[in-house]
Amino acid sequence: MNFLRWQVVGLSGLMFLLAGSLSINAQPDRFADVVVDTAALGNSVFMRTGAGGNLAVSAGPDGLLLVDDQFAALAERIEAALVALPDPAPLSERPLKYVINTHHHGDHTGGNGYFAGLGATLVASQPARVRLLARAPSPDTPLPVITYDAGISIYFNNDRLRLVAMQGHTDGDTAVLFEQANVLHTGDLFFNGRFPYIDLDSGGGVSAYLASQEQMLALIDDDTRVVPGHGPLASKQDLLDTYQMIKKTRRAVEADVDSGLSLTAIQEKGVLLAYKGFAWNFITEARWLELLYRDVVANGSGA
Ligand SMILES: [Zn+2]
Repeated sequence: MNFLRWQVVGLSGLMFLLAGSLSINAQPDRFADVVVDTAALGNSVFMRTGAGGNLAVSAGPDGLLLVDDQFAALAERIEAALVALPDPAPLSERPLKYVINTHHHGDHTGGNGYFAGLGATLVASQPARVRLLARAPSPDTPLPVITYDAGISIYFNNDRLRLVAMQGHTDGDTAVLFEQANVLHTGDLFFNGRFPYIDLDSGGGVSAYLASQEQMLALIDDDTRVVPGHGPLASKQDLLDTYQMIKKTRRAVEADVDSGLSLTAIQEKGVLLAYKGFAWNFITEARWLELLYRDVVANGSGA
């Protein structure tokens, strides 16, 4: 590889997940302690910690490309981190050309305005653009200018990035496969080792989520480095483990609903012991069961 590829991976924003764009003036302390930090993973792949959805970066002769951009309040820190990549170069010499939004949530798109202002072209699936437009605070809000229905490829830094439109977390998700680097950014179609958040109110659903995970599993191999929307860097096996957890916990909730159990009774039973470790402070065991329950009641079991 004659170019450098970086991944910038931010630790989860946890409770900030749905906070949307935040003004640094209105919320001076919320991100005060967040350090956008870098760790090497080998083969010019690096990991960064911050807050909000995980980021991936391609840095090379064509310039910079960013997959997701976290919160507005972190944009300047992300920019500083981009400038400081190996062979530090100001953005005037190594421009940020594209920002790909994996979906519309604010912890993945909060930096859009800032980075579009630096000249980046925003790219997203058509349904994600519709949702970004619907919540745009003003007519001047920068929006994706390149969209796609099924997918699109971007040839950049001697790689082919395959953007594949999917659904499940919302109705406008994208998985990004860096073919040469063998890196997959899943967006929020994968929370590594955690119960996922599935945005049922933005067109997400458990069946579609599982179908998208199957599609992603078919795209990758055992050597693929998988950047989840939230959580630490992952492998194909990690994705498979989470997929199986979702399938099995959903099947259990379907059976409970079929036997007439209430949501409260299902929550009292809890998930199988093997899956209790997937709980985290944003999606607790009770909240995951509620999400599955809502999905099963809305779509029927076996949906
Ligand atoms: Zn999300």
